[in-house]
Amino acid sequence: MSRLTSKLFVISGPSGAGKGTLVARVRAELPSLGLTVSATTRSPREGEVDGVNYYFLSKEEFERRVNAGEFVEWAHVHGNCYGTLVSEVRGKLDSGSSLILEIDVQGALQVKERFPDAVLIFIKPPSLAVLRERLVGRGTESPEMVELRLSNAESELALADRYDEVLVNDDLDQAVAELSRIIRSYERN
Ligand code: 5GP
Repeated sequence: MSRLTSKLFVISGPSGAGKGTLVARVRAELPSLGLTVSATTRSPREGEVDGVNYYFLSKEEFERRVNAGEFVEWAHVHGNCYGTLVSEVRGKLDSGSSLILEIDVQGALQVKERFPDAVLIFIKPPSLAVLRERLVGRGTESPEMVELRLSNAESELALADRYDEVLVNDDLDQAVAELSRIIRSYERN
């Protein structure tokens, strides 16, 4: 039997590419995969719970933690700050399970510098038109936020070639199967 090693997987892609759904489905198939809870200065959306979806911090508290060196990585994304806490990564990796970080491209490149063995996986939407449909359809963003997220999508897509793996999320079942396959294959190495 091949040996399984705990790995750090970083998933990025434009807002609306379907990262959250994909990751939730893959974790249902591979329950040993841990997920980190990020910190953000964005306000909670309806139904979001502090400590579950994110650690919702004030700008002052976020900055204090940046200065105290508490983040593995952090970045300004869509007008707010988002970051991964060292405490989230260290505790979970030490327990021997692989981890998924669902973070933006700036954060992903910082993680790769700090953990060169991290596996960077980029999720692409089939097209920008589909991305717009998904962002408008999910109804969580104001029209201005949809436009901001779409214009940021173009600069994020331009960095896809810095990733180890690129996956197009067109058919969800197929994308889930592909992402599970990628994760399993790296865990075997
Ligand atoms: P949302 O506001 O839709 O929850 O997330 C917006 C974007 O922030 C997503 O594309 C997500 O990848 C990114 N993001 C979430 N958590 C982190 C984090 O800890 N670090 C970084 N750099 N980006 C994050």
